[in-house]
Parts: sequence; C-alpha cells; structure tokens
Amino acid sequence: MKNLESKRLQKVEESSTLAMAAMAREYKAKGVDVISLSLGEPDFKTPKHICSEAKESIDSGNFFSYPPVPGYLDFREAISEKFIKENNLRYDPSEIVVSNGVKHSITNIMFSILNKGDEVIVFSPFWVSYSAIITLADGIPKYINTNISNDFKPTPEQLKDAISDRTKAVIFSSPCNPTGTVFTQHDLKEYQSVLINYPDIIVISDEIYEHINFTDKHASIGSLEGMNDRTITMNGFSKGFAMTGWRLGYIGAPPTIAKSINKMQGQTTSANCSIAQRAGLAALKGGNECAVEMKNEYLKRREIVYNILSRIEKLKLNKPEGAFYFFPEISNYLGNKTTEGKVINSASELSLYLLEDAKVSLVPGEDFGAPNCIRLSYSASEKELIEASERIKVSLGKLI
Ligand code: PMP
Repeated sequence: MKNLESKRLQKVEESSTLAMAAMAREYKAKGVDVISLSLGEPDFKTPKHICSEAKESIDSGNFFSYPPVPGYLDFREAISEKFIKENNLRYDPSEIVVSNGVKHSITNIMFSILNKGDEVIVFSPFWVSYSAIITLADGIPKYINTNISNDFKPTPEQLKDAISDRTKAVIFSSPCNPTGTVFTQHDLKEYQSVLINYPDIIVISDEIYEHINFTDKHASIGSLEGMNDRTITMNGFSKGFAMTGWRLGYIGAPPTIAKSINKMQGQTTSANCSIAQRAGLAALKGGNECAVEMKNEYLKRREIVYNILSRIEKLKLNKPEGAFYFFPEISNYLGNKTTEGKVINSASELSLYLLEDAKVSLVPGEDFGAPNCIRLSYSASEKELIEASERIKVSLGKLI
C-alpha cells in the first residue's frame, strides 16, 4: 500500500524513548533479564489520598458531564493559588488551561502561537517532543548547543546569538529532561537580562520536574521582573505526584495566549478527563509531602548510581541536581571495539551494545540533540540500579 501518512507527519520520527522501551519489552518477553532504565516515568504509585478522591468523585455522580474546556473553575483556582504561593507567579484562573498532560499543553501552545517558519529557540539537549511538536506546527527549532562541562547550561551570549527577527519563542525545562540540569535563580536572571530587550519573544518554561529538585529552591523565570506578561509556565502531575497515566498538565499564560490555547483545545480535544481533574485538585490540596518523600528516594538513588558510574574513568559524568536522569558523555568509547570486533560508532550503537551485553536499556542521546551522550533514568529500585550500574561498568570495561 502506498504511504498514506501526511507530509507534515513524515517530517518527524517516532519517539526513540518509546522505541527503546519497546525493544527492552521484546527482550523481556523472550525471558531475557533486562533492566529498563529508559523510561521517563516515576516507578512509584499515585499517592492514596489522590486515588481516594478520584474514586469518591466517580461515586458522587457529579462529574460525568463535559467539564469546561480549560478545566473546572475550582481546580484552576487551586492552580492559580499554587502558582502564587509556591512559585511567585501571577496567573488568574482565567489564564490557566488544564490539558491531557504537559505534552498536550506544548502541542496546544505551538499550534496556537506559531506561523510557518517561526523559530523557537530550544536549549539543547532537549526533551524529544519539543522539536517534534514545533516541526509539526510548521515552526523551526533553533538549538543552542551545550555540553556536560558547563552542566548543559547555555550562556546568556549564546541565547542572544540565537535570537533572530523570526524568533517567536524560547523553550526549556528546569529541572531538565534529559540532563537533570536545574537552572537556578541566578541562571534565569542572566537569561532575563537578555530577553528583557526582546519583549515580543514568548518564554515557555517547562517546570514539570519542579518537585524533583535537589537544590534549595525551584526557580521560575516567569517570576522575574518583566517576565510574567510574556511567560507561559507549564506544570503537571506526572512526575512529582507519580501520575503519568492520569494525563494531567496545565499552563498559566498571558491572557491573549491563554485565550488562543483555550480555543485550540475547544476545537480539538475539549477539556481533559473530569475524574483526573478531581484527582489533581486533591493532589494540590493534599500538599507536597508525598512529592518530597519521593524526591528523597530519588536523591538516594542518584547517590547509588553516581557512586558506581563515577568510578568509570572513560565515562564523563556530572551530578545532576534534578529530575531522575544521568546524561553522561560517552565520546571516549566511540571507535572502540566489542570483544566480537564490532566497532561502536555512535551513542545508539553503544546503547544497543549495552542492551545486548549488559541487558540494560538506556536511551541514546541523538534524539535529544546530543549524539555523544546517553540517558539513564534512575527511576527504578535501588536493587535494580546497583545491578544495572555494575553491569554497565563491566560491559563498558570490555570495550577496547
Ligand atoms: N516535559 C518534559 C520535560 C518531560 O520529560 C515530559 C514527560 N517525559 C513532559 C513534558 C510530558 O509530561 P506529561 O505529558 O506526562 O505531563
């Protein structure tokens, strides 16, 4: 049959994170003992008080109709309060739109603001879907390249140099997927000092990993002087509250942008699931204690993995301050041979080798814009992490 896929969709690839996870699943189905460190997903269960509220909201019978397109008002009020209290961000409930996860929020945003050929500056390494969604919306991702030696942080000069008269927006995540980098208040002030001179550029701040931050404090660029009116802040429940399957994310945006996003959502998906929204409200009302407990677990796990991997001399490793990823640079292994004489030419080939030899699945950096890196997710049990790290060490040690 001829290829029926639209030209628009043909411009993007299938997500490699999912492809790698699928391969690991195939191995597992064949009985191979694979440890999967490839998925960007908490391995915790959604806290009980959140689940209870969801069950009660079903039993009440009050939440079976279409919710308002941007989300229930009481939920948006709670989000607005959260933004003020925790992030010093001012978004009125009318400037908040709840969606089916932050991935959906990003899609809404890009289709709401981009015209053909508009550029969006993307801090690279970047979360895979940024570039795919920008491309699908006929925009052009413009990457600022960084590397492990400066913790994957662009300099303000790099940001300035990336701006052109076609720049519509800048997007980055903090804490960052895939690098784990946390942009501090100081870093954000430096970017603010550049962006303040370009008031028409929209800043899109992805704060979905807010609660998995090992520094003293999470910082939001929208809270800095002069930034609130042009910053879209995205957040959600998938990571901090272990709610990936509930599909729940939200944005706060300047009023005209929030209106466009609302229009986009109204014409495509309508509001997201009513029950998920009630669960999200319970998460916000229940406080962050459960998120802090999970963060402390991630911190322990980070130390465990770091203690093993940092002893591998040829692996360039930093100690990320947030999210649940390591993003080591593997260039010292390129050109090396396996014991069977196969040459490793890329991060993909190294990941494949580690899947076959160490039986550990990771994600190669190519799709994140970092062909010399691999991503390791430490959202797994301590036992699995110790075993996987030791196996990686042994397998890398065999390469010559
Ligand atoms: N942003 C980043 C940086 C992410 O890593 C993810 C999930 N991997 C998302 C957004 C999307 O999250 P969700 O759609 O589950 O809210």
